[in-house]
Amino acid sequence: MTSGCTHPRTEFIYREDGVDYVRCLGCGQVFEAEDLETVPVAEDDGE
Ligand SMILES: [Zn+2]
Repeated sequence: MTSGCTHPRTEFIYREDGVDYVRCLGCGQVFEAEDLETVPVAEDDGE
């Protein structure tokens, strides 16, 4: 778990199905580029 990293620097990893995946140079986390542009919130898809 990382805390406090706002992923200010990322590098492009690959694209799949029209989705760009990037990796944070700070914490190494990989996520969708779209997620970086929208404010990530806690996943509460409770069923
Ligand atoms: Zn980060």
